[in-house]
Amino acid sequence: MDDSVQVKCTRCKSAFRERARRLQNGYSRQCPTCEVVLFFDEDSSDANIKSAMRRARRVRKELREAEAEFRPRMISRRGSARHATDDDSAA
Ligand SMILES: [Zn+2]
Repeated sequence: MDDSVQVKCTRCKSAFRERARRLQNGYSRQCPTCEVVLFFDEDSSDANIKSAMRRARRVRKELREAEAEFRPRMISRRGSARHATDDDSAA
């Protein structure tokens, strides 16, 4: 299943995709096109960022539900990203 969401750059308006698990409050990344740094926050004044955060939250929820349902072996093997910054305990 697709675990990335589309993000629209505030400055150049180009769209790129980012993993939903990364898009949490405090996350920042550079736009691949114009290299401006975008800061992700659910209270952002930027509507693009806000809607990306909302979609990311929804995707993370779907991913959690999917994992709980059929736990494919490949997912349980992908351990390294998991305990680094834990996802979404507040949601
Ligand atoms: Zn850009």
